[in-house]
Amino acid sequence: MSLPLKLLPIPECWDCHNCGICCRGASVILNDTDLKRLRDQHWEKHPDFRRKRILVRAGLLGRRYRLAHRRDGTCVFQDADKLCRIHREFGYVAKPHVCRMAPLQMIPLESFVYVTLRRYCPSAAADRGRPLKEHLHEYRRLALESGAVPGPVPPPKLTRRCRRPWKETLEVAETLHQFLLDEQYPLVRRLVHGLEFCRLLERCRLRKIHGPRLTELLVMLRAAALEEAKPLFHERVPPSRRSGRPFRLIALEYLRLHPDFLSESSWGDRVRMLHALWIYARGKGRVPCFRLDFPPASFTELERPLGALTEEVMQPLIRYFERSAVSLRYAMFKGGRWSITEGFSALALGLSVALWTLRFACGPRPPEVADVIKVVMMLDRGETYAPLVGTLHRWRTRWLLDDHQLSRLAAWYAR
Ligand code: SF4
Ligand code: SF4
Repeated sequence: MSLPLKLLPIPECWDCHNCGICCRGASVILNDTDLKRLRDQHWEKHPDFRRKRILVRAGLLGRRYRLAHRRDGTCVFQDADKLCRIHREFGYVAKPHVCRMAPLQMIPLESFVYVTLRRYCPSAAADRGRPLKEHLHEYRRLALESGAVPGPVPPPKLTRRCRRPWKETLEVAETLHQFLLDEQYPLVRRLVHGLEFCRLLERCRLRKIHGPRLTELLVMLRAAALEEAKPLFHERVPPSRRSGRPFRLIALEYLRLHPDFLSESSWGDRVRMLHALWIYARGKGRVPCFRLDFPPASFTELERPLGALTEEVMQPLIRYFERSAVSLRYAMFKGGRWSITEGFSALALGLSVALWTLRFACGPRPPEVADVIKVVMMLDRGETYAPLVGTLHRWRTRWLLDDHQLSRLAAWYAR
């Protein structure tokens, strides 16, 4: 049974502006219809593709196929002017299913599916274009045609040890939404309230707490989270050695997803990355820039205050976090295998990484909207990047939450 599609209760806008960014580094997995369509297009007879591999196996032992990449990570079908060759030769409907659906995303819940935007697309990150409701009809048609609309899914865990029915799960998620949408506080404060709430909830023994008792507990935890957050903003403490190292290594994983990062799958790049891991773990001296055109900086310089960012500059980040919270995307992380507290912790950690990256990307000049859009794209890409959704990252995020470090990192980098 497929569920009805529904838009978020807060607006989102988008139109494709043909920048071609989504065709770089994307893994375009092909379904049977895509494979048949590609075969019927006879690319092997085309002079530009005669000796080119256009398909590769997705994974070492996988039976599925994806589109091949060039050395720089761009799709084999992307032309020099960034347009899609399949689209150019055969029209929009001839493109693989994934490409026609992007950057819209479905998030199945109990009785409906949220349709929202992936913000790796700069137009989506900037909310540039028509309201999403104008795309919904076409999207629904595409989704139904390909049988891609999911059915009901089980709720994610509340905490690491506790799973509850959807009703109670949504009650907890609703508390986190309220923190995130509370406009009387700046973004960092809203996220820290959510983090403190998650930390306290993880400490509770929830086994016998159901129904009205759970509601009562959530009200108490909500008030306690606001109180716990206050001292963190009175005196902002720099990351300790214990938290600084994992934080820098996480930031390094994210940097590889920055839209200005030009990767090449070569042995030289792999060796440079290993060397960078060592330098980031030490956290001393110059910060390696790889192929990023960022101003030279030392690790110490990246701890300096960034200064207050205007409402306009912060907007793409605010929209990213608000929409992630309302859509429950953070909770449905990895198909719902992460708990709500783990998903929210990973989401909130993204703000510290984003602000650290802005220090690095902008050097002494103040960040502009375009810089913030790039870090939003980076955060969004992280949501499906194996090192940032795998067991190691889950373990690191848990440890930083339990040790009260996530809120401290957020307060520190939001100076
Ligand atoms: S990244 Fe967005 S705007 Fe750019 S081509 Fe892809 S969908 Fe279009
Ligand atoms: S097939 Fe076309 S739209 Fe899809 S990733 Fe490749 S170039 Fe982009």
